[in-house]
Amino acid sequence: SGQRLLENGGATLATSSETEWIAIISYLVKNKLGVWCKPRKDRWELAKIKSTVGQEASVMLSDGSDITISTGEILPANTESLDVVDDLVELCYLNEPSVLHNLQYRYNRNLIYSKAGSVLLAINPFKDVDIFGNDFVRAYKEKSLDKPHVYALADGAYCDMMKGVGESGSGKTETTKYAMQYLSSVGSQNNEIKNKLIQANCILEAFGNAKTSRNCNSSRFGKIIDINYNAEGIISGVCIQTLLLEKSRVCQICRGERSYHVFYQVCAGAPPVLKDMLSLKMASEYKFLNQSGCLKINGVDDAHNFITLVDAFDTLGIPYEVQEYVFEWLAAILWLGNISFAVIDKEEHVVPVADEASRSAARLMGCKMDDLIELLSTDRILNMSTRLTLQQATAKRNALAKYIYESLFNWLVEEINTSLMGDKQARHTISIVDIYGFESFQKNSFQQLLINYADERLQGHFIRHICKLEQEEYKLNGVLWKKIEFGDNQECLDLFEKKPMGLVSLLDECSNSSEETDETFTNKIKQNLSSNSCFSCEKATFRVCHYAGEVRYGASGLLEQNSDKLQFDILQLLSVCKKPLNLLMSSVMNQVQTTSQSVVAKFKDQLFKLVQQLENSKQHFIRCIKPNTKQLPGTFENDIIWEQLKRSQVIEITQISRSRYPISFTHQEFATRFGCLLSNNLSSMDPLSKSVAILQQHHVPTQAYQVGFTKLFFQGQVDVLENLRQQA
Ligand code: ATP
Ligand code: MG
Repeated sequence: SGQRLLENGGATLATSSETEWIAIISYLVKNKLGVWCKPRKDRWELAKIKSTVGQEASVMLSDGSDITISTGEILPANTESLDVVDDLVELCYLNEPSVLHNLQYRYNRNLIYSKAGSVLLAINPFKDVDIFGNDFVRAYKEKSLDKPHVYALADGAYCDMMKGVGESGSGKTETTKYAMQYLSSVGSQNNEIKNKLIQANCILEAFGNAKTSRNCNSSRFGKIIDINYNAEGIISGVCIQTLLLEKSRVCQICRGERSYHVFYQVCAGAPPVLKDMLSLKMASEYKFLNQSGCLKINGVDDAHNFITLVDAFDTLGIPYEVQEYVFEWLAAILWLGNISFAVIDKEEHVVPVADEASRSAARLMGCKMDDLIELLSTDRILNMSTRLTLQQATAKRNALAKYIYESLFNWLVEEINTSLMGDKQARHTISIVDIYGFESFQKNSFQQLLINYADERLQGHFIRHICKLEQEEYKLNGVLWKKIEFGDNQECLDLFEKKPMGLVSLLDECSNSSEETDETFTNKIKQNLSSNSCFSCEKATFRVCHYAGEVRYGASGLLEQNSDKLQFDILQLLSVCKKPLNLLMSSVMNQVQTTSQSVVAKFKDQLFKLVQQLENSKQHFIRCIKPNTKQLPGTFENDIIWEQLKRSQVIEITQISRSRYPISFTHQEFATRFGCLLSNNLSSMDPLSKSVAILQQHHVPTQAYQVGFTKLFFQGQVDVLENLRQQA
């Protein structure tokens, strides 16, 4: 049982033997140190050991009551003076309750940022915390504040590179915004580029974020913001790249979720003239929006956000006529969703009903009503024309709506980039990466597979980076340290990426063949992937054990969503649409037509490019932590937080950073400072022997320090000795 404690005891105790364990217990008892135990189920409480007999300890809880508990269930606690330390590295004991206690102590005081060695931890406050804004930017810039903060990290990255990771709703996007705010403040001579950047973000969030069941403002696309600086460190321009938008959301939303914010904003906020022009109704009138039974988000004013959106377009210099085209396309999408179909023959073929919906859609798209009806009731391949069933016609209509939205989004990104480009004299670049976070719902499909694959890929990169760091530390110190056991996610990455038969290749191959069906695909993955321990397959679903948790995916529809082939007649219709609208999208259309890769293959290429880019830069990591699943302020749920800390290996990372031994004394300094703690007078001893005698007499665990030729190195504070010294 002693072993269990030692294993959980954290870095300083990790390698202790049984005899050392006894020494540690006696050290804890002797110094009247606090310990953690779980007298009531599932809750760590602070206690003091009064005595031990064999494997049993009698401990006093903080309410004064005494209990007897197995020594195997005790973990050492840090002294109170360490409660507020900024960096987990400074904790003497690095076990679960100690780490959680430290983070909670800070969180309760609105200290949402902490360090775990080289990584910044950010725990989502779900409320406004008064630590942002110009005064704070200035303080960090002038280095008059040095507490962990995204500003401090951004400051450190001023010529480097940074990225964020964490689950959905953990705060990546908000943290990114603060980093951007800092980086655009410190590097600009006027506020122009800073304002533009904030406004660009506002547009991207309107078009690319939506309410999910995990996050009211969930990013449904990935983004990489490159901020370019000239040789003087002044911003010369910004370029935003995006990764795959979840376009299925335009037509299909789960209960309680919403489509993209912008649709609700236009419906609620468009002024009467625009409303008339778009034949626009309330959001509740549109099938694409009302299907989920959720039209509003608590505390969000869609009408007001519409005004903010128009302001953002203005700031970026997008003329009002062009804005109108954008709104016309959006309204066209909504009306497309309301098109209904009537059966016309015994084979159940359908045609769109000629009503307000189809008329408005055609008018807003700028095409002939007959052409739209033709498109949505027949498939034309070469000179052959076949009629469509309800299912086929609906799918085609949805494909059209999704394609329009995706093109609109990509076009907006291009417009934003044109506006932010500035001069091209970039000398340095800081990139901020903010992508979608790990997701697991009751039903998971293609989008979750991509999101979670991206998360897994970046985690793989993160681990490789940290391990490299570790090796460098070993070399630097030239001392033999116990190698820190790092769990990697290679097995899961192999599942996706292994050639020729990983999930990505199989999906790609099957999507490109007309003979494959959902069923043959399921058989193929079962055959080829079952030997991978992260994979299992049951009927039409399969499970993947991601580093962040297990997810069950539905296999049906994956091939179709992955192939994402746009019928030629859709493109043809769009190309003859009203000119200005069609102009917006022509460049995007060209891009789409020239690539024939499946979605997942393209996505993998994008991810590899991203990782390549990261690897060629100096990196800073922010680990965003979600403190509860209800998006509530002031609610620190230990289990949820510990799970995320464990999965992202925060303890191991802290241990690696500890090998830097942040605290050191020369032998002389140490002997002088703590000499008074020696029980017998050993004044004749040399400083080195004296120091060692002090450490031994006070049972300081041997893993906690290293004796060097001239100095003593400590992993954490020697606060126990410090306290004793002050009492002496
Ligand atoms: P996803 O992966 O779904 O995009 P995310 O990690 O980007 O999630 P955010 O959208 O950044 O999560 O954060 C979710 C919500 O948490 C925000 O809408 C905001 O309400 C709150 N939040 C996050 N960080 C902060 C912060 N520093 N201060 C105040 N509120 C915050
Ligand atoms: Mg986000």
